[in-house]
Amino acid sequence: MKVKSLLFSWFNKRKLKYHNQMKKINKCPECRGHGFIITSSTYLANSLECYACNSTGRYSEWEQENSDQS
Ligand SMILES: [Zn+2]
Repeated sequence: MKVKSLLFSWFNKRKLKYHNQMKKINKCPECRGHGFIITSSTYLANSLECYACNSTGRYSEWEQENSDQS
């Protein structure tokens, strides 16, 4: 259980750091500023419009969409 929570906090720290980096360059963390997400699934289209930033690729858009998550 302890290892699990340690891993969880490590993951969250990395995620936060990554989000801060993306904020600096104003790029959506989900699609890395591309506006779409490449999937490896053979059952779906290879690229999907990014739901998190409305396929704008901008961090500011992503932040608005995700602001209620605190
Ligand atoms: Zn995006």
